[in-house]
Amino acid sequence: METLSRDETVALRKKHVASCVELFFNDDPLKIVKGVGQYMFDEKGNKYLDCINNVAHVGHCHPHVVKCASEQMSLLETNSRFLHDNLVIYGKRITQYLPKELQICFFTNSGSESNDLAMRIARRISGGYDVIVLDHAYHGHLTNLVSISPYKFAHPSGDGKQEWVHVAPVPDSYRGKYRSSEYSEDEISELYFQEVVKLVENAEKSGRKICLFYAESLQSCGGQIVYPKNYLKKCYQYLQPKGILCLADEVQTGFYRTGSHMWGFQSQGEDLIPDFVTIGKSMGNGHPVSCLVTQTSHAQKFGEKGLKYFNTYGGNPVSMAVANAVLDVIEKEKLHTHVHEVSTYLLNELERLKQKHEIIGDVRGYGYFIGIDLVKNRQTREPAIESARIVLRAMRDAFILLSLDGPYSNVLKIKPPLCFNMDNAKLLIETFDRILADLKLKAQL
Ligand code: PMP
Repeated sequence: METLSRDETVALRKKHVASCVELFFNDDPLKIVKGVGQYMFDEKGNKYLDCINNVAHVGHCHPHVVKCASEQMSLLETNSRFLHDNLVIYGKRITQYLPKELQICFFTNSGSESNDLAMRIARRISGGYDVIVLDHAYHGHLTNLVSISPYKFAHPSGDGKQEWVHVAPVPDSYRGKYRSSEYSEDEISELYFQEVVKLVENAEKSGRKICLFYAESLQSCGGQIVYPKNYLKKCYQYLQPKGILCLADEVQTGFYRTGSHMWGFQSQGEDLIPDFVTIGKSMGNGHPVSCLVTQTSHAQKFGEKGLKYFNTYGGNPVSMAVANAVLDVIEKEKLHTHVHEVSTYLLNELERLKQKHEIIGDVRGYGYFIGIDLVKNRQTREPAIESARIVLRAMRDAFILLSLDGPYSNVLKIKPPLCFNMDNAKLLIETFDRILADLKLKAQL
């Protein structure tokens, strides 16, 4: 299965791929040659439990997805400017999972393209230019999206905030401005919402016109942040009547990742109606396909004056065969129905480990979207950056792949494929417990 030795792969990569193109475990990257279900295999045949991969949603190389992709590939793959059933069938299927107002799909190849297109539409139909984003957010790698992603522009390597970008504090009740140690959930929700109000009022005072509010439904790169109840609802209810369109970035949180709902935003209230929903990653189980879903009137307005939208590969027959196949699996195998049980076990066990290991400052998330915030000191909440790196590496050495994120890279993230099961969860907990105990022992020596 290996064409090159690992050393040759590394050498060729160094020669032909920019060093800034990041890999997991960048100092000692993994070479993965095969994936099956929730497992990945390296070139030596080592089997890893994959809790890092939020694209292989229904399991690596799911046979139904592979079959549908290869059958369509052998029949037709073409430019997207022809009628094709795969595309319209998917449009009908996916919109059935969304509020009835969201009926129009623009198919693209990546979450970034979908988020970028939303900005283009919002600017064109509202006459505004500015956007609101949450602190620490990441919405994609295109130039405009790096400009609206504090995760990138506020990094020491970034270009800083531009004046058309308005950053609201992320409603983080553990590490943010308003914390659960001082306020109730309702108060936190209101206080963070008032920050958005202040932001809009200040922008209006200085003559700026905001057209779009971007928010993930739970924040991933910011460190698996779960918003207080009703926060998004309050924001939407305030912004939408002002003509500020609201976008739910579901690139990470869609397709039952959170277990209980197909979309993360539904956990903030079934009556939330975004102007835009962007989906990707899980949509193609690793195949590049994404979609921006919007309201019919927005799409009509966007198309006025003869504007045409074209995207060579967006919605091509193979991508749409894959996307339909992923939905088939979700609907037939109902993988999400065990997510609640397994993730409840995981969260309870992590809470138990928190009583045992001082380093665990906070455990948060739901479904298969979990974060463990590691701290040096529970009172000050100082992030345990170095220990987090050690734990991550030790988990990898025990063949369990996790990732680190958050503004301090101290939040361990668990986001496995939906087929991750109870035995996997037990192994993860046992291993994590042992590694934290070893860490404590070493610190005492
Ligand atoms: N939005 C969110 C929330 C993301 O996490 C990402 C990717 N990590 C994107 C958008 C961009 O998606 P892509 O990498 O497919 O362009």
